[in-house]
Amino acid sequence: MVFRALMLRDAAGTPAPQLETVDEALLPEGEVTIAIECSTLNYKDAMVLQGLGRLVRSYPHIPGIDFAGTVEQSDSAEFAAGDPVILTGWRVGELHWGGFAEKARVRADWLVRRPDGLSARHAMAIGTAGFTAMLAVIALERRGLQPGSGEVLVTGAAGGVGSVATALLAALGHRVVAATGRPELRDYLTGLGATELIDRAALAVAPARPLDRERWAGAIDAVGGTTLATILTQLRYRASVAACGLAGGSDLAATVIPFLLRGVDLVGIDSVMCPRHERIAAWQRLANDLPRDRLEQMIAVVPLGALPGLASTMLRGGVRGRLVVDVGA
Ligand code: NDP
Repeated sequence: MVFRALMLRDAAGTPAPQLETVDEALLPEGEVTIAIECSTLNYKDAMVLQGLGRLVRSYPHIPGIDFAGTVEQSDSAEFAAGDPVILTGWRVGELHWGGFAEKARVRADWLVRRPDGLSARHAMAIGTAGFTAMLAVIALERRGLQPGSGEVLVTGAAGGVGSVATALLAALGHRVVAATGRPELRDYLTGLGATELIDRAALAVAPARPLDRERWAGAIDAVGGTTLATILTQLRYRASVAACGLAGGSDLAATVIPFLLRGVDLVGIDSVMCPRHERIAAWQRLANDLPRDRLEQMIAVVPLGALPGLASTMLRGGVRGRLVVDVGA
C-alpha cells in the first residue's frame, strides 16, 4: 500500500520539499496507523520547511507537527480502527514523520481521542496553535483570571495562536485587546471578539521604566522579545502573562521590578511535551468553549503542494488565522 506525502529531502544542506508516493512499509514504528484527513501549517512547520532551527536531524523526512484523522490499524487496547484522533506535538514532524501525508504511524500514548462534535477540519483549524492558546488561557485562569477581571492583551493577534486566543477569551466573556501590525485586519479581529486593537509597534519599544501604567489583567503573548518585556511592565498587580512564542524575538531584556513590586507572573507555555491528561482536558475545553462560527472565520484550506510557498509567507508574519491542510487535495 502507498500514500501521498510532502517529503523533505536533503539537498546540499537545504531541505527540498516534493510531493511523493511513499510505501506504507516505510512508516516509522508505533502502535497506531492513522488515515489522516487534515493537518495544518504552524510556525514551527514553516521553520522545518525552510530548514531553520535544526529541528529535523535526518532526511528524508515528512514534516507536519499535527494531524487529525481516523485510526486505521491499532496494536493498542486504547484505540480501535475507526476511532477519530488528534495528534499534536511530541516532536512529531521534527524527529518522527508527521502530518503532511495521507498516513502516519505513532505511539498510542501520543494520541488524543477527538472530542464528540469536533470535526477533523475544526480540530486542525485549532491545531497546535489553538491548542497552545487554550493552554495559555487555562494557565491564566489557574492564576485567577476571570471574566470581569479587566482587559486581556493578545499579541500576534492575527496569527494562529493569537486568533484562537482572541476568539476563546472573547467567548469566555473577557474584554480582549488585540495587538497587531496589520490594522487592515480590524474587521477580522473584531469579528473574532476583540473589543480594541492596538498597534504592535507600541509594545515593541524597549520599556523606558521598570514599571509602566498598570493596564492588563492578563496577557497571552506569541511575540516574545521587547514585546514581552513591555507587557511585564504594564501588568496589573498580581496579573499574569503567558509566554507562548517568539515571532518577534527570543531575547528577554526585563527587570525583576514588576515581579517584586506587583507580584506579577510570567508563565511558560509548552504544547509539545504537555502531559496527556492536560491535553485531553484542553481539547475538551476547545470543543466546548470555542464557537465554531468564529473558528470558521480563521480558516483557509490549502493543499499539500502549497505549503513550501506558504512557509515563507508565514515566517514573514503574512498568514492570517489558521491554514488547514487538506492532505487529499
Ligand atoms: P503565526 O505566524 O500564525 O502568527 C504570528 C503572529 O505574530 C503574526 O501573525 C504577527 O501578528 C505577529 N508577528 C510576526 N512577526 C512579528 C514581529 N517581528 N514582531 C511582532 N509581531 C510579529 O504563528 P503562530 O501563531 O502559529 O505562532 C506564534 C508563535 O508561537 C511562534 O513563535 C511559534 O513558534 C509559537 N508557538 C509556540 C508553541 C508552544 O508550545 N509554546 C506552540 C505553537 C506556536 P500580527 O500580524 O497580528 O501583528
